[in-house]
Amino acid sequence: MPSEFELIARYFTRGTTHTTLGVGDDGALIAPTPGCELVISTDMLVEGTHFLPDTDPQDLGWKTLAVNVSDMAAMGARPRWATLAIALPHADEAWIAAFAQGVFACADEFGIDLIGGDTTRGPRNFCVTIFGEVASGKALRRSGARAGDDVWVSGKPGQAALGLAHLQGRTALSEPHRADCIAALQRPQPRVALGLALQGLATAAIDVSDGLLADLGHILEASAVSAQLTIAVPPAPTLERDAYLSGGDDYELVFTVPAQARTAVTALATKLALPLTRIGSILAGPRGSIELRDLEGRIVEPPHRGYDHFMSLPEAGTVAP
Ligand code: ADP
Ligand code: MG
Repeated sequence: MPSEFELIARYFTRGTTHTTLGVGDDGALIAPTPGCELVISTDMLVEGTHFLPDTDPQDLGWKTLAVNVSDMAAMGARPRWATLAIALPHADEAWIAAFAQGVFACADEFGIDLIGGDTTRGPRNFCVTIFGEVASGKALRRSGARAGDDVWVSGKPGQAALGLAHLQGRTALSEPHRADCIAALQRPQPRVALGLALQGLATAAIDVSDGLLADLGHILEASAVSAQLTIAVPPAPTLERDAYLSGGDDYELVFTVPAQARTAVTALATKLALPLTRIGSILAGPRGSIELRDLEGRIVEPPHRGYDHFMSLPEAGTVAP
């Protein structure tokens, strides 16, 4: 049985590209780029709450880092460094090797140095703290949305929730949709390039981890505004509609942009080869409220807004964002 230190040395220690001192000392040393602010965020994944016990370890490693990278994207920041705290019930080396491979695949994809962490025995649980950089004063906050702004969303919200429903036997998706939805669930693609490009363009941004309506709701609260959305989904509460409106785990970005800059957003979609869909507009109030209409202008009764760990009890075997 390998020791804690052997595990760290074998699976979580690798060369760094932009770090003064990485794994192996009591603390890491980083030198932030002059003129930048550090953006710091932490996200924890707990077995049974955030992922199913039989999740592929490589996918889980990717997702553990990717959900944190997504927070950097939502701030308009470039992810740079991360620490990783792990609790595992036992030292299954094949599992740990695959998990580490997934973590480093994501780290490589986004140019992140893993600079430290903690490794301990306990119920399976992963916690990443990520450090990003953004030019001083340029971070995208939740609080900047103004009446008259358009509301946009990237990608195809709802796919991750549909992928989960498929894996749980609650629906049967057919190819190629099935593969897309399962990939969205297991290998989310944080929208870092989009977040960086939205600097100076978007007035507010958030990543969709808890559901489109729930996360847009956070922008509306922070900005003290309301929104009117026109949604190209059927008004009846189907699984597709509810996945789109309240499914979590997509890690797409919802953002607001002044209406005069519409063409700039359209050009960005082409440049990034990423669908960017205008779904509504910001109104002055009442704070936090969302009016939903379908393409014919009929009012749509919204489903439950999204996932809240302490408000709704998930059915047995469901996973939360
Ligand atoms: P300490 O006891 O001083 O906190 P540890 O023995 O916990 O140090 O960790 C030794 C070194 O390994 C530290 O640099 C720590 O940041 C790093 N480390 C521990 N676990 C991990 C991990 N899962 N991934 C990356 N680095 C880790
Ligand atoms: Mg320690």
